[in-house]
Amino acid sequence: MDGLTQPPVFDGHNDALLRLWSLGRGNEVAAFKATDKGHIDLTRAAKGGFAGGFFAMFVPPMGRGFDMSIFGKPPYDVPLPKEISQDIALRIVVEQAGVLHRLVDQGLAALCTSSADIDAAIEAGRMAVVLHVEGAEAIDADLKALDGLYAMGLRSIGPVWSRPTVFGHGVPFRYPSDGDIGPGLTEAGKALVAECLARRIVVDTSHLNVKGFNDVGEIGAPLVATHSNAHAISPGARNLTDTQLKMIGETGGMVGLNFGTMFLRRDGKAGKEGAFEAALDHLDHMIAVAGEDHVGLGSDYDGAPMPPELASVADLGNLRKGMADRGYGAELIAKICHENWRAFLRRYWENR
Ligand SMILES: [Zn+2]
Repeated sequence: MDGLTQPPVFDGHNDALLRLWSLGRGNEVAAFKATDKGHIDLTRAAKGGFAGGFFAMFVPPMGRGFDMSIFGKPPYDVPLPKEISQDIALRIVVEQAGVLHRLVDQGLAALCTSSADIDAAIEAGRMAVVLHVEGAEAIDADLKALDGLYAMGLRSIGPVWSRPTVFGHGVPFRYPSDGDIGPGLTEAGKALVAECLARRIVVDTSHLNVKGFNDVGEIGAPLVATHSNAHAISPGARNLTDTQLKMIGETGGMVGLNFGTMFLRRDGKAGKEGAFEAALDHLDHMIAVAGEDHVGLGSDYDGAPMPPELASVADLGNLRKGMADRGYGAELIAKICHENWRAFLRRYWENR
């Protein structure tokens, strides 16, 4: 283990596809190779040992009535953005899946739908991508759009981002608050989760409220929160209570540490001070409560403000060093960096 690039990081959540899509068709390939914008490109990934993870497709909020400017200025309660129509969402998701497929065609990324795909990509030094959608607006209540998206490689679905969908209600961005706000999954949402479970599509609870989280557990899916932190450390609505963290461990699921400063800091602020040390506090706590086999990373790179020590994927060595400084052994560091996510997908996808 050299610490700077090893063990590799396989991460639960990033928004690189959204950023690349926003650049316009034809600009994504160069920007994925090297850029000074955002948090992820291949040049910086090589420096920090970022080997891949879940790449999210996401339809950004539209129109008036959604004010993110109070986010990270506690106490805050960001009003939920309006619902998005399926036809708009499906168009954008198809375009963002197209961005990934262009990268794959250029040999810059590997679309992974099995553990063997992930192993081979990491072995070959190619970015390993599990395709995720954050908020299922692109899918209709009858799931007619699901099969086509599956064929494009979709293997992980968050039924909601924080705005409502036909499938359920999201957890608002509120601090201080727990996540027990509003109703859980709709009947269509329960049918979507059952279908995901049958087809071994990961169900991501990160933006679900507590009732929705419990609904996913009742249907029998392993509880996964790809990018959420510990409510006991930072008591915002997006973070998980100890009860939820325990359920994640008990169902053989996973939680990924979100590096977004407002989800890390105890005071809920978005600024940089103390955020990195808080990240290690969250890891300590989540490992203690969910268990050391059920915690990984879920950076939110290209989707949230980062602590300076983790300014981009080039800086992941600081996190490995931070864990080592806290007394984590090499085995545990490898579990957190990549092994736990990969073992989870092996269990879920291939029952081994
Ligand atoms: Zn998110």
